[in-house]
Amino acid sequence: MTVRTRFAPSPTGYLHIGGVRTALFNWLYARKHGGQFILRIDDTDQQRNVAEALQPILDGFRWLGLDWDEGAAVGGPCGPYYQSHKLDRYQEAVRQLLDKGLAYWDYARPEETKAEMEAAEKEKRPKIYSRRWMAVTEADRKRFEAEGRQAAVKLKMPREGVCRFHDHVRGDVEVAWAGEQDTVIQRSDGTVMYNLANVVDDFDMKITHVIRAEEHLSNTPRQIFMLEGLGYPRPEYAHVPAVSEPGSKNKLSKRKIAQYLKNPDFKKMYDHAKALADRVGLTTTPDSFNPVLIDFYKQVGYLPDAVMNYLVLLGWSLDDKTEDFTRQQMIDLFSLDRVVKASASLDVKKLFAFQERYMQAVPVAEKAERALPYLVRAGLVPDPAPAEVRATVGQIVEAAGPRLKVFGDILDYDDFFLPDDQLPYDEKALDKHLRKDPGAGWIGDLRAIVASAEPFDAPTLKQRIEEFIQARGAKPIPVTQTLRVAVTGKEVGFGVYETLAILGRDRCLARIDRALGLLVK
Ligand code: GLU
Repeated sequence: MTVRTRFAPSPTGYLHIGGVRTALFNWLYARKHGGQFILRIDDTDQQRNVAEALQPILDGFRWLGLDWDEGAAVGGPCGPYYQSHKLDRYQEAVRQLLDKGLAYWDYARPEETKAEMEAAEKEKRPKIYSRRWMAVTEADRKRFEAEGRQAAVKLKMPREGVCRFHDHVRGDVEVAWAGEQDTVIQRSDGTVMYNLANVVDDFDMKITHVIRAEEHLSNTPRQIFMLEGLGYPRPEYAHVPAVSEPGSKNKLSKRKIAQYLKNPDFKKMYDHAKALADRVGLTTTPDSFNPVLIDFYKQVGYLPDAVMNYLVLLGWSLDDKTEDFTRQQMIDLFSLDRVVKASASLDVKKLFAFQERYMQAVPVAEKAERALPYLVRAGLVPDPAPAEVRATVGQIVEAAGPRLKVFGDILDYDDFFLPDDQLPYDEKALDKHLRKDPGAGWIGDLRAIVASAEPFDAPTLKQRIEEFIQARGAKPIPVTQTLRVAVTGKEVGFGVYETLAILGRDRCLARIDRALGLLVK
Protein backbone atom coordinates (compact mmCIF):
# COMPACT_ATOMS: atom_id res chain seq x y z
CA MET A 1 0.00 0.00 0.00
CA THR A 2 1.35 3.43 -0.96
CA VAL A 3 0.82 6.00 1.75
CA ARG A 4 -1.16 8.97 0.46
CA THR A 5 -1.87 11.98 2.65
CA ARG A 6 -3.47 15.28 1.88
CA PHE A 7 -3.92 18.82 3.03
CA ALA A 8 -7.14 20.46 1.96
CA PRO A 9 -7.05 24.21 2.52
CA SER A 10 -9.83 26.57 1.63
CA PRO A 11 -8.55 29.43 -0.53
CA THR A 12 -8.71 32.08 2.13
CA GLY A 13 -5.92 34.33 0.92
CA TYR A 14 -3.51 33.43 3.69
CA LEU A 15 -1.61 30.48 5.17
CA HIS A 16 -2.12 30.10 8.91
CA ILE A 17 0.77 28.73 10.94
CA GLY A 18 -1.47 26.08 12.51
CA GLY A 19 -2.53 24.89 9.06
CA VAL A 20 1.06 24.66 7.94
CA ARG A 21 1.94 22.61 10.98
CA THR A 22 -0.84 20.13 10.06
CA ALA A 23 0.30 20.13 6.44
CA LEU A 24 3.85 19.47 7.61
CA PHE A 25 2.77 16.37 9.52
CA ASN A 26 1.02 15.09 6.39
CA TRP A 27 4.04 15.85 4.25
CA LEU A 28 6.45 14.19 6.67
CA TYR A 29 4.33 11.09 6.94
CA ALA A 30 4.08 10.74 3.16
CA ARG A 31 7.79 11.41 2.63
CA LYS A 32 8.82 9.02 5.37
CA HIS A 33 6.85 6.21 3.80
CA GLY A 34 7.82 6.98 0.23
CA GLY A 35 4.24 7.97 -0.46
CA GLN A 36 2.48 10.95 -1.95
CA PHE A 37 1.30 14.21 -0.50
CA ILE A 38 -1.68 15.84 -2.16
CA LEU A 39 -2.74 19.46 -2.02
CA ARG A 40 -6.39 19.69 -2.86
CA ILE A 41 -8.52 22.74 -2.70
CA ASP A 42 -11.59 22.89 -0.56
CA ASP A 43 -13.40 25.62 -2.45
CA THR A 44 -17.00 24.43 -2.31
CA ASP A 45 -18.08 27.55 -0.47
CA GLN A 46 -15.83 29.97 -2.21
CA GLN A 47 -17.24 33.36 -3.06
CA ARG A 48 -14.05 35.11 -3.97
CA ASN A 49 -11.55 34.76 -6.76
CA VAL A 50 -10.07 31.34 -6.07
CA ALA A 51 -6.81 31.78 -7.99
CA GLU A 52 -6.04 34.98 -6.15
CA ALA A 53 -6.99 33.61 -2.76
CA LEU A 54 -4.94 30.50 -3.36
CA GLN A 55 -1.73 32.20 -4.39
CA PRO A 56 -0.47 33.06 -0.88
CA ILE A 57 -1.08 29.45 0.15
CA LEU A 58 0.89 28.00 -2.74
CA ASP A 59 3.63 30.60 -2.25
CA GLY A 60 3.89 29.67 1.42
CA PHE A 61 4.20 25.98 0.63
CA ARG A 62 6.83 26.64 -2.00
CA TRP A 63 8.79 28.91 0.29
CA LEU A 64 8.86 26.26 3.01
CA GLY A 65 9.82 23.57 0.52
CA LEU A 66 6.69 21.55 1.27
CA ASP A 67 6.33 20.09 -2.17
CA TRP A 68 3.19 18.26 -3.23
CA ASP A 69 2.98 15.42 -5.70
CA GLU A 70 -0.54 16.03 -6.91
CA GLY A 71 -3.06 18.79 -6.59
CA ALA A 72 -3.41 22.49 -7.20
CA ALA A 73 -1.13 23.86 -9.91
CA VAL A 74 0.48 20.49 -10.60
CA GLY A 75 -2.50 18.26 -11.44
CA GLY A 76 -2.24 14.49 -11.27
CA PRO A 77 -4.11 11.29 -12.05
CA CYS A 78 -6.85 11.66 -9.40
CA GLY A 79 -8.14 15.11 -10.30
CA PRO A 80 -9.88 17.43 -10.42
CA TYR A 81 -8.22 18.66 -7.24
CA TYR A 82 -10.59 21.57 -6.84
CA GLN A 83 -13.85 20.70 -5.15
CA SER A 84 -15.64 23.35 -7.16
CA HIS A 85 -14.95 21.27 -10.29
CA LYS A 86 -16.55 18.13 -8.93
CA LEU A 87 -20.17 18.96 -8.28
CA ASP A 88 -21.49 16.22 -10.60
CA ARG A 89 -19.32 13.65 -8.94
CA TYR A 90 -20.55 14.65 -5.48
CA GLN A 91 -24.18 14.66 -6.57
CA GLU A 92 -23.71 11.16 -7.90
CA ALA A 93 -22.49 10.07 -4.45
CA VAL A 94 -25.51 11.77 -2.88
CA ARG A 95 -27.76 9.81 -5.24
CA GLN A 96 -26.08 6.57 -4.22
CA LEU A 97 -26.69 7.31 -0.56
CA LEU A 98 -30.33 8.16 -1.33
CA ASP A 99 -30.75 4.93 -3.29
CA LYS A 100 -29.38 2.90 -0.43
CA GLY A 101 -31.71 4.58 2.04
CA LEU A 102 -28.77 6.11 3.92
CA ALA A 103 -29.86 9.62 3.06
CA TYR A 104 -33.24 11.23 2.48
CA TRP A 105 -34.90 14.26 0.97
CA ASP A 106 -35.83 16.56 3.78
CA TYR A 107 -38.39 19.28 3.20
CA ALA A 108 -38.20 20.98 6.57
CA ARG A 109 -37.93 24.73 6.49
CA PRO A 110 -34.92 25.97 8.46
CA GLU A 111 -37.14 27.59 11.08
CA GLU A 112 -39.00 24.30 11.57
CA THR A 113 -35.89 22.30 12.35
CA LYS A 114 -34.66 25.12 14.53
CA ALA A 115 -37.93 25.14 16.51
CA GLU A 116 -37.67 21.37 17.06
CA MET A 117 -34.14 21.67 18.34
CA GLU A 118 -35.04 24.54 20.64
CA ALA A 119 -37.98 22.63 22.04
CA ALA A 120 -35.75 19.62 22.71
CA GLU A 121 -33.28 21.84 24.47
CA LYS A 122 -35.97 23.45 26.60
CA GLU A 123 -37.37 20.09 27.62
CA LYS A 124 -33.87 18.74 28.12
CA ARG A 125 -34.43 15.95 25.59
CA PRO A 126 -31.70 14.76 23.25
CA LYS A 127 -31.73 16.81 20.05
CA ILE A 128 -33.07 14.24 17.64
CA TYR A 129 -34.81 15.39 14.49
CA SER A 130 -38.36 14.00 14.15
CA ARG A 131 -37.89 13.45 10.39
CA ARG A 132 -41.39 14.87 10.01
CA TRP A 133 -40.55 16.44 6.68
CA MET A 134 -38.70 13.45 5.32
CA ALA A 135 -40.05 12.35 1.94
CA VAL A 136 -40.27 8.60 1.75
CA THR A 137 -42.20 8.30 -1.50
CA GLU A 138 -42.56 10.30 -4.71
CA ALA A 139 -46.01 11.28 -3.49
CA ASP A 140 -44.46 12.79 -0.35
CA ARG A 141 -42.11 14.83 -2.50
CA LYS A 142 -44.94 16.16 -4.64
CA ARG A 143 -47.02 17.01 -1.62
CA PHE A 144 -44.19 18.92 0.09
CA GLU A 145 -43.33 20.70 -3.12
CA ALA A 146 -46.93 21.73 -3.56
CA GLU A 147 -46.53 23.48 -0.19
CA GLY A 148 -43.72 25.49 -1.74
CA ARG A 149 -41.02 23.60 0.15
CA GLN A 150 -37.56 22.83 -1.08
CA ALA A 151 -35.57 19.75 -0.24
CA ALA A 152 -32.10 19.35 1.13
CA VAL A 153 -30.56 15.90 1.38
CA LYS A 154 -29.79 14.71 4.87
CA LEU A 155 -27.98 11.68 6.16
CA LYS A 156 -30.22 9.14 7.83
CA MET A 157 -28.00 8.48 10.77
CA PRO A 158 -28.33 5.31 12.83
CA ARG A 159 -30.10 5.85 16.14
CA GLU A 160 -28.51 3.03 18.04
CA GLY A 161 -25.18 1.37 18.39
CA VAL A 162 -21.78 2.97 18.38
CA CYS A 163 -19.29 4.15 15.81
CA ARG A 164 -15.80 2.88 16.59
CA PHE A 165 -12.60 4.00 15.02
CA HIS A 166 -8.96 4.10 15.85
CA ASP A 167 -7.14 7.39 15.85
CA HIS A 168 -3.35 7.55 15.89
CA VAL A 169 -3.41 10.41 18.36
CA ARG A 170 -6.62 9.84 20.32
CA GLY A 171 -6.47 6.05 20.48
CA ASP A 172 -9.71 4.05 20.24
CA VAL A 173 -12.70 6.32 19.86
CA GLU A 174 -16.31 5.31 20.44
CA VAL A 175 -19.21 7.55 19.64
CA ALA A 176 -22.86 6.67 20.20
CA TRP A 177 -24.73 6.98 16.91
CA ALA A 178 -27.72 8.36 18.78
CA GLY A 179 -25.79 11.53 19.47
CA GLU A 180 -25.16 12.17 15.77
CA GLN A 181 -27.45 14.50 13.89
CA ASP A 182 -28.94 13.95 10.46
CA THR A 183 -26.43 16.21 8.74
CA VAL A 184 -27.27 18.05 5.53
CA ILE A 185 -25.04 16.79 2.71
CA GLN A 186 -26.70 18.57 -0.19
CA ARG A 187 -28.42 21.92 0.07
CA SER A 188 -31.70 22.71 -1.61
CA ASP A 189 -29.83 24.55 -4.37
CA GLY A 190 -27.96 21.35 -5.24
CA THR A 191 -24.60 22.38 -3.79
CA VAL A 192 -22.94 19.93 -1.46
CA MET A 193 -21.44 20.21 1.98
CA TYR A 194 -17.89 19.72 3.20
CA ASN A 195 -18.47 16.35 4.89
CA LEU A 196 -19.70 14.68 1.73
CA ALA A 197 -17.16 16.27 -0.61
CA ASN A 198 -14.39 15.33 1.74
CA VAL A 199 -15.34 11.66 1.86
CA VAL A 200 -15.65 11.46 -1.92
CA ASP A 201 -12.34 13.23 -2.46
CA ASP A 202 -10.47 11.06 0.00
CA PHE A 203 -11.75 8.04 -1.90
CA ASP A 204 -11.10 9.45 -5.38
CA MET A 205 -7.62 10.50 -4.36
CA LYS A 206 -6.89 7.16 -2.69
CA ILE A 207 -6.04 8.82 0.61
CA THR A 208 -4.77 6.27 3.10
CA HIS A 209 -4.14 8.54 6.09
CA VAL A 210 -6.32 11.43 7.12
CA ILE A 211 -4.12 13.63 9.28
CA ARG A 212 -6.01 16.77 10.16
CA ALA A 213 -6.93 19.23 12.86
CA GLU A 214 -8.62 17.95 15.97
CA GLU A 215 -11.70 20.04 15.29
CA HIS A 216 -12.62 17.49 12.62
CA LEU A 217 -12.73 14.60 15.08
CA SER A 218 -16.45 15.24 15.51
CA ASN A 219 -16.99 14.95 11.75
CA THR A 220 -15.39 11.53 11.62
CA PRO A 221 -18.41 9.34 12.60
CA ARG A 222 -20.65 10.81 9.92
CA GLN A 223 -17.85 10.57 7.40
CA ILE A 224 -17.37 6.92 8.30
CA PHE A 225 -21.11 6.41 7.97
CA MET A 226 -20.98 7.82 4.45
CA LEU A 227 -17.87 6.05 3.28
CA GLU A 228 -19.14 2.71 4.50
CA GLY A 229 -22.45 3.35 2.78
CA LEU A 230 -20.63 4.14 -0.42
CA GLY A 231 -18.46 1.06 -0.12
CA TYR A 232 -15.22 2.99 0.23
CA PRO A 233 -12.28 1.73 2.29
CA ARG A 234 -11.71 3.43 5.62
CA PRO A 235 -8.57 5.56 5.82
CA GLU A 236 -6.50 5.70 8.99
CA TYR A 237 -7.10 8.78 11.11
CA ALA A 238 -4.88 11.08 13.12
CA HIS A 239 -6.47 14.16 14.63
CA VAL A 240 -3.74 16.50 15.69
CA PRO A 241 -4.18 19.14 18.36
CA ALA A 242 -4.65 22.73 17.29
CA VAL A 243 -1.82 25.20 17.60
CA SER A 244 -2.83 27.48 20.45
CA GLU A 245 -2.09 31.10 21.11
CA PRO A 246 0.91 32.37 23.07
CA GLY A 247 0.58 31.37 26.68
CA SER A 248 -2.93 29.90 26.51
CA LYS A 249 -4.89 26.90 25.33
CA ASN A 250 -7.16 28.89 23.03
CA LYS A 251 -6.83 28.30 19.34
CA LEU A 252 -4.39 30.64 17.64
CA SER A 253 -6.25 33.26 15.67
CA LYS A 254 -5.03 35.76 13.15
CA ARG A 255 -7.53 38.27 14.47
CA LYS A 256 -6.12 38.46 17.97
CA ILE A 257 -2.76 40.08 17.30
CA ALA A 258 -3.61 43.07 19.50
CA GLN A 259 -4.04 40.69 22.42
CA TYR A 260 -0.85 38.71 21.65
CA LEU A 261 1.15 41.92 21.57
CA LYS A 262 0.65 42.16 25.31
CA ASN A 263 3.08 39.25 25.59
CA PRO A 264 6.57 40.85 25.83
CA ASP A 265 8.30 38.20 23.68
CA PHE A 266 5.69 38.52 21.01
CA LYS A 267 5.92 42.28 21.06
CA LYS A 268 9.69 42.28 20.82
CA MET A 269 9.69 39.96 17.82
CA TYR A 270 6.87 41.88 16.19
CA ASP A 271 8.39 45.33 16.71
CA HIS A 272 11.69 44.18 15.22
CA ALA A 273 9.88 42.86 12.16
CA LYS A 274 7.63 45.87 11.86
CA ALA A 275 10.55 48.33 11.94
CA LEU A 276 12.16 46.34 9.17
CA ALA A 277 8.98 46.18 7.11
CA ASP A 278 8.47 49.92 7.43
CA ARG A 279 11.90 50.52 5.96
CA VAL A 280 11.20 48.56 2.83
CA GLY A 281 7.72 49.99 2.49
CA LEU A 282 5.87 46.71 3.07
CA THR A 283 2.19 47.10 3.69
CA THR A 284 1.69 45.99 7.23
CA THR A 285 -2.02 45.32 7.35
CA PRO A 286 -3.08 42.42 9.59
CA ASP A 287 -3.83 40.38 6.46
CA SER A 288 -0.39 40.73 4.98
CA PHE A 289 1.83 41.14 7.99
CA ASN A 290 0.77 38.96 10.84
CA PRO A 291 2.93 36.53 12.86
CA VAL A 292 0.09 34.01 12.80
CA LEU A 293 0.56 33.74 9.04
CA ILE A 294 3.51 32.12 7.32
CA ASP A 295 3.99 35.00 4.92
CA PHE A 296 5.18 37.16 7.80
CA TYR A 297 8.32 35.07 8.29
CA LYS A 298 8.96 34.97 4.58
CA GLN A 299 8.75 38.75 4.32
CA VAL A 300 11.06 39.42 7.22
CA GLY A 301 13.65 36.97 5.94
CA TYR A 302 13.50 33.89 8.12
CA LEU A 303 15.00 30.63 6.94
CA PRO A 304 12.39 28.10 5.88
CA ASP A 305 14.42 25.33 7.55
CA ALA A 306 14.33 27.14 10.87
CA VAL A 307 10.57 27.67 10.62
CA MET A 308 10.06 24.00 9.68
CA ASN A 309 12.19 22.82 12.57
CA TYR A 310 10.21 24.96 14.97
CA LEU A 311 6.88 23.83 13.51
CA VAL A 312 7.61 20.12 13.76
CA LEU A 313 7.88 20.54 17.52
CA LEU A 314 4.45 22.15 17.72
CA GLY A 315 2.64 18.98 18.63
CA TRP A 316 5.28 16.34 18.02
CA SER A 317 8.36 15.28 19.90
CA LEU A 318 10.90 12.57 19.30
CA ASP A 319 12.02 12.00 22.85
CA ASP A 320 11.02 15.12 24.80
CA LYS A 321 14.51 16.57 24.49
CA THR A 322 15.92 16.61 20.95
CA GLU A 323 15.13 19.93 19.35
CA ASP A 324 17.21 20.25 16.20
CA PHE A 325 16.21 18.31 13.15
CA THR A 326 17.30 18.65 9.57
CA ARG A 327 14.62 18.08 6.98
CA GLN A 328 15.89 14.57 6.37
CA GLN A 329 15.95 13.77 10.09
CA MET A 330 12.39 15.03 10.43
CA ILE A 331 11.35 12.74 7.60
CA ASP A 332 13.22 9.77 9.02
CA LEU A 333 12.10 10.23 12.59
CA PHE A 334 8.54 11.52 12.34
CA SER A 335 5.82 9.23 13.59
CA LEU A 336 2.16 9.71 14.34
CA ASP A 337 2.58 7.88 17.64
CA ARG A 338 4.68 10.72 18.99
CA VAL A 339 2.13 13.40 18.18
CA VAL A 340 1.09 14.84 21.51
CA LYS A 341 -2.51 15.15 22.62
CA ALA A 342 -2.20 18.54 24.26
CA SER A 343 -2.18 21.64 22.12
CA ALA A 344 1.13 23.45 21.74
CA SER A 345 1.20 27.21 21.79
CA LEU A 346 3.01 29.46 19.39
CA ASP A 347 6.19 30.63 21.08
CA VAL A 348 7.77 33.26 18.87
CA LYS A 349 10.79 33.57 21.13
CA LYS A 350 11.60 29.94 20.55
CA LEU A 351 10.97 30.28 16.84
CA PHE A 352 13.35 33.25 16.78
CA ALA A 353 15.96 31.24 18.66
CA PHE A 354 15.78 28.55 15.97
CA GLN A 355 16.17 31.24 13.37
CA GLU A 356 19.26 32.69 15.07
CA ARG A 357 20.85 29.27 15.33
CA TYR A 358 20.14 28.26 11.76
CA MET A 359 21.28 31.62 10.46
CA GLN A 360 24.73 31.18 11.94
CA ALA A 361 25.25 28.08 9.85
CA VAL A 362 24.47 29.81 6.55
CA PRO A 363 27.62 30.59 4.50
CA VAL A 364 28.41 34.27 4.08
CA ALA A 365 27.96 34.25 0.30
CA GLU A 366 24.49 32.78 0.61
CA LYS A 367 23.49 35.18 3.36
CA ALA A 368 24.63 38.10 1.21
CA GLU A 369 22.67 36.83 -1.77
CA ARG A 370 19.50 36.46 0.26
CA ALA A 371 19.91 39.77 2.07
CA LEU A 372 20.45 41.72 -1.15
CA PRO A 373 16.76 41.89 -2.16
CA TYR A 374 16.01 43.88 1.01
CA LEU A 375 18.52 46.55 0.00
CA VAL A 376 17.03 46.60 -3.48
CA ARG A 377 13.51 46.94 -2.10
CA ALA A 378 14.60 49.76 0.18
CA GLY A 379 16.00 51.56 -2.88
CA LEU A 380 19.52 51.48 -1.46
CA VAL A 381 21.13 49.51 -4.25
CA PRO A 382 20.24 49.20 -7.94
CA ASP A 383 18.65 46.10 -9.43
CA PRO A 384 20.52 44.14 -10.67
CA ALA A 385 23.19 45.01 -8.16
CA PRO A 386 26.66 45.50 -9.65
CA ALA A 387 29.47 43.18 -8.60
CA GLU A 388 31.13 45.71 -6.29
CA VAL A 389 27.85 46.25 -4.41
CA ARG A 390 27.49 42.49 -3.99
CA ALA A 391 31.04 42.34 -2.69
CA THR A 392 30.26 45.08 -0.17
CA VAL A 393 27.17 43.22 1.00
CA GLY A 394 29.35 40.14 1.49
CA GLN A 395 31.81 42.13 3.60
CA ILE A 396 29.01 43.59 5.69
CA VAL A 397 27.45 40.20 6.28
CA GLU A 398 30.82 38.82 7.31
CA ALA A 399 31.50 41.68 9.70
CA ALA A 400 27.97 41.62 11.12
CA GLY A 401 28.28 37.92 12.00
CA PRO A 402 25.55 36.82 14.40
CA ARG A 403 24.05 40.33 14.43
CA LEU A 404 22.31 39.41 11.20
CA LYS A 405 19.47 37.32 12.60
CA VAL A 406 17.02 37.51 9.72
CA PHE A 407 17.89 38.53 6.17
CA GLY A 408 16.01 41.80 6.58
CA ASP A 409 18.46 42.82 9.30
CA ILE A 410 20.80 43.89 6.52
CA LEU A 411 18.85 47.14 6.64
CA ASP A 412 20.54 47.94 9.94
CA TYR A 413 23.60 48.62 7.78
CA ASP A 414 21.88 50.92 5.35
CA ASP A 415 24.47 53.63 6.12
CA PHE A 416 26.98 51.81 3.90
CA PHE A 417 24.73 52.34 0.92
CA LEU A 418 23.69 55.90 1.53
CA PRO A 419 25.55 58.54 -0.50
CA ASP A 420 28.13 60.20 1.74
CA ASP A 421 26.45 63.58 1.45
CA GLN A 422 23.11 62.14 2.55
CA LEU A 423 24.22 60.19 5.58
CA PRO A 424 22.11 61.23 8.57
CA TYR A 425 24.05 62.11 11.72
CA ASP A 426 22.69 61.49 15.15
CA GLU A 427 22.97 64.94 16.77
CA LYS A 428 23.36 63.56 20.26
CA ALA A 429 26.20 61.35 19.10
CA LEU A 430 27.90 64.33 17.47
CA ASP A 431 27.54 66.30 20.71
CA LYS A 432 28.98 63.54 22.77
CA HIS A 433 31.83 62.32 20.61
CA LEU A 434 32.86 65.14 18.31
CA ARG A 435 31.67 68.52 19.55
CA LYS A 436 33.60 68.31 22.77
CA ASP A 437 36.84 66.95 24.10
CA PRO A 438 38.40 64.52 24.10
CA GLY A 439 36.84 63.53 20.71
CA ALA A 440 37.10 67.07 19.35
CA GLY A 441 40.80 67.02 20.04
CA TRP A 442 41.34 63.58 18.45
CA ILE A 443 39.44 63.77 15.20
CA GLY A 444 42.08 65.70 13.27
CA ASP A 445 44.75 63.09 14.01
CA LEU A 446 42.33 60.25 13.38
CA ARG A 447 41.56 61.77 10.00
CA ALA A 448 45.28 61.87 9.25
CA ILE A 449 45.61 58.18 10.10
CA VAL A 450 42.69 57.36 7.79
CA ALA A 451 44.32 59.44 5.06
CA SER A 452 47.68 57.73 5.34
CA ALA A 453 47.13 54.11 6.46
CA GLU A 454 48.70 51.78 3.94
CA PRO A 455 47.36 49.34 2.94
CA PHE A 456 43.84 50.53 3.78
CA ASP A 457 42.63 47.41 5.52
CA ALA A 458 41.23 46.51 8.94
CA PRO A 459 44.46 45.09 10.47
CA THR A 460 46.55 48.13 9.41
CA LEU A 461 43.92 50.59 10.63
CA LYS A 462 43.67 48.70 13.89
CA GLN A 463 47.42 48.85 14.39
CA ARG A 464 47.69 52.55 13.56
CA ILE A 465 44.77 53.55 15.75
CA GLU A 466 46.00 51.43 18.64
CA GLU A 467 49.33 53.20 18.40
CA PHE A 468 47.46 56.51 18.59
CA ILE A 469 45.49 55.32 21.63
CA GLN A 470 48.71 54.36 23.38
CA ALA A 471 50.50 57.55 22.49
CA ARG A 472 47.64 59.62 23.91
CA GLY A 473 47.19 57.39 26.93
CA ALA A 474 43.50 57.29 25.97
CA LYS A 475 40.87 54.63 26.58
CA PRO A 476 40.18 52.67 23.38
CA ILE A 477 36.38 52.88 23.29
CA PRO A 478 35.98 56.68 23.32
CA VAL A 479 38.50 56.87 20.46
CA THR A 480 36.83 54.25 18.31
CA GLN A 481 33.41 55.74 19.03
CA THR A 482 34.59 59.15 17.86
CA LEU A 483 35.69 57.59 14.62
CA ARG A 484 32.56 55.53 14.27
CA VAL A 485 30.23 58.48 14.71
CA ALA A 486 32.28 60.47 12.20
CA VAL A 487 31.96 57.81 9.49
CA THR A 488 28.56 56.23 10.18
CA GLY A 489 26.64 59.00 11.92
CA LYS A 490 25.65 56.73 14.80
CA GLU A 491 27.03 54.99 17.85
CA VAL A 492 26.10 51.40 17.03
CA GLY A 493 27.50 49.00 14.48
CA PHE A 494 29.96 46.16 14.10
CA GLY A 495 33.77 46.47 14.37
CA VAL A 496 34.96 49.98 13.59
CA TYR A 497 38.05 48.83 11.65
CA GLU A 498 35.93 46.58 9.43
CA THR A 499 33.54 49.48 8.97
CA LEU A 500 36.34 51.76 7.79
CA ALA A 501 37.80 49.11 5.51
CA ILE A 502 34.45 48.33 3.89
CA LEU A 503 33.76 52.02 3.23
CA GLY A 504 37.23 52.57 1.76
CA ARG A 505 39.52 55.51 2.28
CA ASP A 506 37.78 58.05 0.04
CA ARG A 507 34.35 57.55 1.51
CA CYS A 508 35.73 57.64 5.07
CA LEU A 509 37.49 60.93 4.42
CA ALA A 510 34.43 62.41 2.74
CA ARG A 511 32.30 61.43 5.72
CA ILE A 512 34.75 62.69 8.32
CA ASP A 513 34.94 66.01 6.49
CA ARG A 514 31.21 66.26 6.32
CA ALA A 515 30.93 65.50 10.07
CA LEU A 516 33.48 68.20 10.78
CA GLY A 517 31.37 70.61 8.74
CA LEU A 518 28.33 69.78 10.86
CA LEU A 519 30.02 70.49 14.16
CA VAL A 520 29.39 74.21 14.20
CA LYS A 521 25.72 74.54 15.14
N1 GLU B 1 -10.83 22.23 4.37
C1 GLU B 1 -10.88 21.54 5.62
C2 GLU B 1 -10.18 22.40 6.64
O1 GLU B 1 -9.54 23.34 6.29
C3 GLU B 1 -10.25 20.18 5.46
C4 GLU B 1 -10.63 19.27 6.52
C5 GLU B 1 -10.06 17.90 6.35
O2 GLU B 1 -8.85 17.80 6.30
O3 GLU B 1 -10.83 16.93 6.30
O4 GLU B 1 -10.26 22.21 7.81
